[in-house]
Amino acid sequence: MMSQVLLALAGNQNSGKTTLFNVLTGSNQHVGNFPGVTVEKKIGVLKEYKEASLVDLPGIYSLSPYTSEEIVTRDFILQEHPDVIINIVDATNMERNLYLSLQLMELQVPMVIALNMMDEVEKSGNSIDVEDLSKQLGIPVVAISAARKQGISELIRVVKRMVKHPMEMPKCDFCKGEVHRAIHAIAHIVEDHAQTVGVPLRFAATKLVEGDLKMQEALALHEDDVHIIEDIVMSMEHALETDREAALADMRYTYIEGICKKSVHKVNESYGQRRSEQIDRLLTHRYLGIPIFILIMFLIFYLTFALFGAYLQGWMEEGIDLFTVWLSQLLYQSGVSAWLCALIIDGICTGVGSVLSFLPIIVILFFFLSLLEDSGYMARVAFVMDKSLRRIGLSGKSFVPMLIGFGCSVPAIMSARTLSSERDRKMTILLTPFMSCSAKLPIYGMITAAFFPKHSALILISVYLLGIAVAIISGFLLKHTVFQGDSIPFVMELPAYRIPAFKSVLLHMWEKAKDFLHRAFTIIFVASILIWFLQSFDWQLNYIDDSSKSILASLGSALAKGLAPLGFDDWRAATALVSGISAKESVVSTLSVLVGGGEGDLYAALQSMMTPLSAYAFLSFTVLYMPCVAAFAATRRELGSWKEALLTIGYQTLSAYVVAMLIYQIGSLFL
Ligand code: GDP
Ligand code: MG
Repeated sequence: MMSQVLLALAGNQNSGKTTLFNVLTGSNQHVGNFPGVTVEKKIGVLKEYKEASLVDLPGIYSLSPYTSEEIVTRDFILQEHPDVIINIVDATNMERNLYLSLQLMELQVPMVIALNMMDEVEKSGNSIDVEDLSKQLGIPVVAISAARKQGISELIRVVKRMVKHPMEMPKCDFCKGEVHRAIHAIAHIVEDHAQTVGVPLRFAATKLVEGDLKMQEALALHEDDVHIIEDIVMSMEHALETDREAALADMRYTYIEGICKKSVHKVNESYGQRRSEQIDRLLTHRYLGIPIFILIMFLIFYLTFALFGAYLQGWMEEGIDLFTVWLSQLLYQSGVSAWLCALIIDGICTGVGSVLSFLPIIVILFFFLSLLEDSGYMARVAFVMDKSLRRIGLSGKSFVPMLIGFGCSVPAIMSARTLSSERDRKMTILLTPFMSCSAKLPIYGMITAAFFPKHSALILISVYLLGIAVAIISGFLLKHTVFQGDSIPFVMELPAYRIPAFKSVLLHMWEKAKDFLHRAFTIIFVASILIWFLQSFDWQLNYIDDSSKSILASLGSALAKGLAPLGFDDWRAATALVSGISAKESVVSTLSVLVGGGEGDLYAALQSMMTPLSAYAFLSFTVLYMPCVAAFAATRRELGSWKEALLTIGYQTLSAYVVAMLIYQIGSLFL
C-alpha cells in the first residue's frame, strides 16, 4: 500500500543515506563504506510518521546522466514527484556534497538538507553555522548524525511541516556573467516545451547548457531551436575560454565556496580524514599497494579455504551424510518404492548436499570481504587497480567482482551491480566467470591426482593464470568490437577509514547465507532432480541400473563426438561436463558415479579415457566454459535479458572450446 506522502532520500555516495534510511524506517539495509553499494532504490515507511514512505535513492555526485544511478535518481524525482526531498549532505565534505544540492534545488521540489556526520565535525573541533547556511540557501537545514541517531526527530518535524505547508523553492539564481546570460536566453527558448513535458524550466535550461542529449530528446526541441541553443552555448564557451561543462561546474563551485566561507568554521581537518591520509600513504603506495593487497587476499583465502573453511566444510559434509543415512533408512523402512528412494537420496540429497557443504566457506569469505568493504579498504584497492584494468577497457570498480569471482561467480556477478555504467557492468558480468571459482577445485584435484601428481601446484597455478589471460584477451577483443568506447571516468572518492560496525558485517553475512540457501533449495534442487532423472531412465522411460544406457549417456555420446578435436571424446567426460552445469563440483561426482568403485578405479578409468595432454585440455575447458546454472541465473537476472545471458554463456563456452582445442592440437604436434 502506498502511503499518501512520498519522501525521497538523495545524496552523494557514502554520505550516510542508507544509515539514515535505516534509522528513519527501522529497516536493515546493508550499509557499506564502499561507494555505490546502493544501486536499486529501496522503499520503507517512516517509523515516526506512518503516513510517509521514504525512497532510498542511489548515491550520486551530480544529476548528469553519466551513470545508471544518476538516471534512476533523476527519473524518480521528475516522474514520481516526491513531496519532499531529504538531501543528505556529508558535513565533513561540504563542497563536494553541495554540488549535488544545488542541482537538486533546480528541480523545484521542496527540499530539506540533513547535514550528516556532525559528530565527526564536532570531534575535529570545527563548526558549521547551520542557521546561516539555511539562510544562504533559502531552504531548511537540520544538523544530524545518522550513526548516533542525533537530530532525527528534529528532521522529521521539519519534514512534516514542509509536507503540510509546501514551500515555494527559492529561485536560487547562483549564476553570474556569461553562464547566466546563456541559461536565461535558453530558458526563454524552451519555456513552452518544458511546461508541456513538465520539467522545471531552470533545470532544463542548465542541462541544455551542459549539452545533455537526454534533455534535448525529452523536450522534443525543434531543429532550429537546437541550432540556436548551440550558438548561444558556443559564444559562451568562446567568451569564457572553457568548455560548457567546465563553465557550469566552475560557476557552481564558486558559489558553493562563497557559502562555505561564511558558514563553515574550519580549524582542523577532520580527525577521520587525517588518520585516513596516514593509512593511505602505505596502502595506496605506488609500488607497495598491489603487493600489500595480494598479501591480504592471500591471507583471507588461506583463512577461508585452508584454515576455517576446510574444517567447517568437513563438519557440514558429515552432518549431511548423517542426515542422508538417517533419511534413507527411514525411506527404506516405510517401504517407499526403489526409484523414489533413489530420486531422494542419489538425486536430491547428493545434489543439494554437495552444494550445501560450501555454505561455511561462503559465509566466512563474506565475513572477511565485508570487513574489507566496510572499513573502506576495498575502495582503495579499486583505486590502485584502476590503471591496469583501464587497459582492457574496464575501470577499477570492476575489480571487486573479479576478485569475488575466485570464490564464487554468483555473488561476483551480483556485485557487478555496483558498477555505474551499463557497459562496464555487462563486460564485467561476461568476464568474471573466467576467474576460476572455488567449486572447480575438486575437478583440479581429481585431474592432477590422476595425471600430474608431482606437478600439482604448477598445474593449478597455470590453470588460474589461463583464466585470467583469457579474460584479458577477451577484454581487449570486446573493447574493440562489442563494447567500444572507454570506461566511465573513475570519480570515486576515497571514503575515510572506519571501524566496521559489527551489526553491519553480521547483516552482510546473513544476507549472503540466505541467498545461498535459497539457491540451493531452488535451482540446485531442480537441477539435481533433472540430472538424476536423465541418468536413471532410458528413452523409453524404463528405470535402469546401467547408466550407460540412460538418456544422459546417449546425449553424452552425441556430445562426445563434438569434443573429439579437444582430445576427450568419451561420453562419460562429456556427460560430466554437462552435469557440471548444475554445479561444478558435480563434474567429479558424476564421473565417480559413472565409473563406480573407489578413488583408484576412478584414476585408472580417467587414464584410459585421456592422455595427460587431453587431460590438460579437459582442465582448460572446465576453467573457461559456461558457469553453473546458479551463475547463469544470476547473469540473466543482472543483465535482465535472456538473449544477452545466452550470448554471454555462448561466448564463454566457445572460448573454452577454442582454447582447449588449441592446447590439444598444438600440444599434439610436440608430444
Ligand atoms: P550511503 O552510501 O550514502 O548509503 O552511506 P552509508 O549509509 O552506507 O554510510 C557510509 C558510512 O558512513 C558507513 O560506514 C556509516 O557507518 C558511516 N556513517 C553514516 N552516518 C554517520 C554519522 O552520522 N557519523 C559517522 N561518524 N559515520 C556515519
Ligand atoms: Mg547506501
